[in-house]
Amino acid sequence: MTERVYSFAPGPAVLPVPVLEQVQKDLVCLPGAGASVLEISHRSKAFEGIMADAQARLKALLGIPDNYHILFLQGGARLQFSMIPMNLLRGSSVPAEYLVTGSWSKYALEEAKKEGPVNVVWNGKDTNYDRLPPMSSLQFNPQAPYAYITSNETIQGVQFATDPDAGSIPLVCDASSDFLHRPVDVKRYGILYACAQKNAGPAGLTIVIIRDDLVKRSPDSLGGYLSYRTHVEANSLWNTPPVFGVYVFQLIARWLQEEIGGLDQMYALNREKARLLYEVIDASNGFYRGHAQPDCRSVMNVTFRLPNDELEKKFLAEAAPLKLRELKGHRSVGGMRASIYNAMPLAGVQALRDFMKDFLARNGA
Ligand SMILES: *Cc1c(COP(=O)(O)O)cnc(C)c1O
Repeated sequence: MTERVYSFAPGPAVLPVPVLEQVQKDLVCLPGAGASVLEISHRSKAFEGIMADAQARLKALLGIPDNYHILFLQGGARLQFSMIPMNLLRGSSVPAEYLVTGSWSKYALEEAKKEGPVNVVWNGKDTNYDRLPPMSSLQFNPQAPYAYITSNETIQGVQFATDPDAGSIPLVCDASSDFLHRPVDVKRYGILYACAQKNAGPAGLTIVIIRDDLVKRSPDSLGGYLSYRTHVEANSLWNTPPVFGVYVFQLIARWLQEEIGGLDQMYALNREKARLLYEVIDASNGFYRGHAQPDCRSVMNVTFRLPNDELEKKFLAEAAPLKLRELKGHRSVGGMRASIYNAMPLAGVQALRDFMKDFLARNGA
């Protein structure tokens, strides 16, 4: 197959075509470096330039204040599920506060329990994680070492509509599946982190934005790689960073700045894409049933069911030849999931919208 399809995969996920083309063009020889980014030292001038530019672009895109550090790590979001409590909870007698809003926060909670006491502030399990609590309703212990949230639950398709406020407690946020999809107020967070393969690049890179005062909390006894302090002191060069991921991320940050025009523009486009799909769901007379409650629907992962298994199989079978791929939902929710990250073009969402309308016309009551 030589023709690109529209991949609605949850991750690894669609990347911007101009970024892929640039990678292809420079893969054999990166201008100025005489070799590809995969073949030069991570301590070379060329790579240091790439990393500094990637950090500067990220800082500009999100307006990251000077008292935050940007780390480029490996290990995926799952390693952060462990590193966060290792660095911030180990030895504490006061529980960390966790919001369990879907599968990913549940997994994060399980890892935290291995390191210290946790308190579940809110749990969406009873309704299979189809809603979020109003932030204003939550009570956090002001002594807690941190409060933990997942800004977008990739599997269930629920997303906080605005930056949450945890008061004086450091707010730790897994933004893996909605990183850079809109502007955020970074100073509300103690740690904001994301694995790259959903919305910011290839698998293998994890981006951690951490406030300076939290770095001091890393226990001395922690293994080197597991300590945030190690990575801050070495500017992510303690060991070999994920060089290819950092390089692709640099190109994505540039694409966001120069081709999209910044995160306000990105958010407007993302909202428009999501609106097209939710509109079909809402106008389908219950044929398509959204999993998430309307007020916390994700702009990134649109989850919905059809009336029965047979129609769901038929939907996937008919979508595939139209180049609409990877639409099957996670087994814990069932049905469909259309992941429409930053790099999914409007035309891809329009094609899915048209197919959904046509499928409804042919199969609806
Ligand atoms: C995909 C995902 C993860 C897991 O990421 P890995 O890099 O595979 O560890 C964690 N949190 C969220 C919100 C995700 O979407």
